[in-house]
Amino acid sequence: GLADWQRGVRAQFPILAGTDEAYLDSAATAQKPQVVLDAVQHYLTTGNANAGRGTYRWANRTTDLVSHCRARVADLIGAGEPDAVHLVGGTTEALRRVALDWLVDILADGDEIVVPAADHLANVLPWREARDLAARRGVTVRLVEMPYEPSGDYDLAALAPLVGERTRLVALTHVHHVYGVDMNVHRVRRLVGDDVVLCLDAAQSVGHLPVSAPDLDVDFLAFSGHKAMALSGIGVLWAANRRGPRYAHRGWEGSPHTAGAASLAAAVDWFDATGLDRIEAWTVALGARLTDGLARLPGFQVLGCQDSLTLDSTVQRRHGLVTFRHPAISAADLGFVLAEHGLMVRANAHCQGPAGERESSVRVSLHVYNTVEEVDRLLDVLARLDASSHH
Ligand code: PMP
Repeated sequence: GLADWQRGVRAQFPILAGTDEAYLDSAATAQKPQVVLDAVQHYLTTGNANAGRGTYRWANRTTDLVSHCRARVADLIGAGEPDAVHLVGGTTEALRRVALDWLVDILADGDEIVVPAADHLANVLPWREARDLAARRGVTVRLVEMPYEPSGDYDLAALAPLVGERTRLVALTHVHHVYGVDMNVHRVRRLVGDDVVLCLDAAQSVGHLPVSAPDLDVDFLAFSGHKAMALSGIGVLWAANRRGPRYAHRGWEGSPHTAGAASLAAAVDWFDATGLDRIEAWTVALGARLTDGLARLPGFQVLGCQDSLTLDSTVQRRHGLVTFRHPAISAADLGFVLAEHGLMVRANAHCQGPAGERESSVRVSLHVYNTVEEVDRLLDVLARLDASSHH
């Protein structure tokens, strides 16, 4: 069954073999399977050169490697054309490029952009910058705040009257980095119609579940290699070629992150071999176990869950990413105690935009290598906490 399969998958992560500690912070960055480490090692020890420049053997191999990476990424997100895949530094850079290399030049006086103000700051700040740059050339653009439901999902009923003739772009997130909610992206497309550009932050979904850019019907899709089991410093901006002016790089591109491209191509191969549907099934099940366990502990509040009665309906849409707090114990104290027990979690505020949570909280983010035992160990430590001894 799934449990046997998971044991075999976990065994492919060498960093986990050497520790008793539980890594529960995969939303920050994911661990790497052996085949990704091998691909980087192999590339750097047998053919390292720059890409797209030289014409000797190592240089040609490296150029091919970067093209291969683009093709594999296009396969991963169901997007066909490798030329639509731009290799960038990460999600933050990708979203800034959409806003500042592309959007800013097509904005006209009176245009509106819908901004997801409770999502990650990387998907909030670039749109503000685009508005401010447009203002410097006398073009007035209005940012409209995306409305949210209490679960953290987008509130489509409240969004509908905000979208109009002047809406140029709606910026969205696929899986929320604090609530773990699988956002209603496909329904946003139906609501806004065909003419509005949709830009999707897929940093927490690519590598966690099957993601198809055509199915989601978005125009731009961004993600980071390091959260998808590849190296840090490489990421993807995919740009559809169907509506309006095509996104294109301007002028010179610097030397690409070649070892990063090797790691990303290998990570895509690994996802294919392992199965993103099973990866998703595992993390959703672990996330549900954690959410249910927290709901049974007195005092703990799971963000995005209104009360235990709503849990069941929300749980299915959480992707192994669960954030909570306790009214009497600070997130910093919780983080400290959990770290003392070898449980690596994120305990502070979470780079969330202005409409999001201001208070600190603890985020547990699970991936396919995490186990039921790790989740239960965490719940056990929390259950044994004496709230009165913390402030
Ligand atoms: N968007 C989301 C939803 C994220 O979770 C993150 C990383 N925490 C980012 C954007 C930024 O990604 P990066 O730091 O890799 O650029």
